[in-house]
Amino acid sequence: MLITDDIFQAFLQCETKAHLQLAGAAGDQQVFPAWERDRVEAYKQHYHLHVRADCREDECLVGVAWPHALAHRLWRRVMDCQVQAHALQSHIHIVERGTSAGQTPHPPYIPVRLIPREKLTPQDKLMLAFDALVLAAATGHALPFGKIIYGGTYAVAKVTLEAWLPSAQAVLDKIMAQQASRNPPPLVLNTHCAACEFQAHCRQRALEKDDLSLLSGMTAKEKQKQHRKGIFSVTQLSYTFRARRKPKRFAAKPEKYSHALRALALREHKIHIAGQPALTLKGTPVYLDVEGVPDRDFYYLIGLRYTSGDASLHASFWANDMAEEQEMWAACLQALAKIDRPQLLHYGSYETLFLKRMKERYPDVVEQPAFLDQLIKEAVNIVSVSYAQIYFPTYSNGLKEIAHYLGFHWSESDASGLHTLMWRGEWECSKDERLQQKLVTYNAEDCEALERVTTAIAQLCQGQGEAAQATEHTIVHIDAMKRENPDHFARNEFALPEFDAINKAAYWDYQRDKIYIVGTKFTRPSVERLSRTASRRILVVHPFSFDMFGSLCDTSLRSGT
Ligand code: SF4
Repeated sequence: MLITDDIFQAFLQCETKAHLQLAGAAGDQQVFPAWERDRVEAYKQHYHLHVRADCREDECLVGVAWPHALAHRLWRRVMDCQVQAHALQSHIHIVERGTSAGQTPHPPYIPVRLIPREKLTPQDKLMLAFDALVLAAATGHALPFGKIIYGGTYAVAKVTLEAWLPSAQAVLDKIMAQQASRNPPPLVLNTHCAACEFQAHCRQRALEKDDLSLLSGMTAKEKQKQHRKGIFSVTQLSYTFRARRKPKRFAAKPEKYSHALRALALREHKIHIAGQPALTLKGTPVYLDVEGVPDRDFYYLIGLRYTSGDASLHASFWANDMAEEQEMWAACLQALAKIDRPQLLHYGSYETLFLKRMKERYPDVVEQPAFLDQLIKEAVNIVSVSYAQIYFPTYSNGLKEIAHYLGFHWSESDASGLHTLMWRGEWECSKDERLQQKLVTYNAEDCEALERVTTAIAQLCQGQGEAAQATEHTIVHIDAMKRENPDHFARNEFALPEFDAINKAAYWDYQRDKIYIVGTKFTRPSVERLSRTASRRILVVHPFSFDMFGSLCDTSLRSGT
């Protein structure tokens, strides 16, 4: 079977995705893949128009398969060139012909990738290296470098292929090994899932399996560690949680995030609290949510929600383009200045970075620098309050999941940050007001959801008893949790009584291998024989050393153990 550039890219995103595509499966969610495809196609067309003026018609070909139609032609550039060699195939965005100092067309060729984004990732370079592998196999020429043209200004990045070809070949080898294997790769939900066509299929499978990868933030290393211990499901993991009292000297140390505690919260459908979470509000809470285009470092929408008297108010600030960002920020600051002692509350570090960047980017906008400094200083990231301390029965700490748990619903039920990127991209092309309104509504609902989550967290911080009533959810404080079986394992109930006897016998052996108190000379030979076995760790205690063990040995001997 052919390994195409689509398969290669899918493998870089997720092994399961590549496996499903190789098997010919088609996912249900085509919105994002189609949007991404259209974006790249539109970018290619724009670039083609941009460079057309440099080329004569017979120098610039479009959509041909290598090497057909290229023989005896004085072409310099082929757009959308399909190249196939052995079991590899790639639709190379552009193949350029290298030129010597004398401008005589001759090999080697240069593969070129077109990327609409403003920032490049290692994946982009690996994709270029894959193009180079296929082109080198088809032409028989080594390709020293390739190019990536990216962003609105068609910036050019020259990529030395030598550095990327071994990694691309390693990925290819893994894909071939996967093809040859009969077993599918293990399902691991990951950050690409939100944009993947198989999202619904995989999430359903993971839920059926109660898979550990449902817990967001659990790294592959942590998962492997749990697998080595025989723990494969969230429910299994939940049973590993042990409530331990923190020694007084570590009281000030921040709590450590525990996946096992989150698993327990999910299993019991209860909010679990570790430590003493605290949320201090000093002024009028103003819920802040910002939308932007991350790869352009551009912010286009700010939402503020606050109360005035009994009324909840919302204000939105919009920028059509980068040139209007400063105006948008200035309007937002003016609105904040009218609120009595505003205190910004936001969810996640995106807004923290936004405030920092706005201050640096537009220092002249601020009439009273002390006011902005105070706003930034007193701003609270709600995630930092709840992280590792408040565990809602949700698979992640995401605003969407927690707000859903608390009964909040968005008008676009499955909308996410990825949707906003898509809507904004479409709005930039069409200037359709309905898309702009969709974005403003989504942002306003994010602010409202943030208020709901903050209120619940504030109640939990103030007093768990009251909060339990106020939020209508049961809460558990792990410091007060009754430790189940603190000093011994639970008694096993066996289906067959014979297993009980076998289990007891196994325990005798276990004890004998670990600590053996030698009380008489009759037992000594067997102990000495055992102690010669290197693999066993035995502490041999002779009778004359009984004094050292004092009451412990005394008790052991008296009880006959
Ligand atoms: S939904 Fe996630 S796990 Fe499934 S194929 Fe896509 S990226 Fe992989």
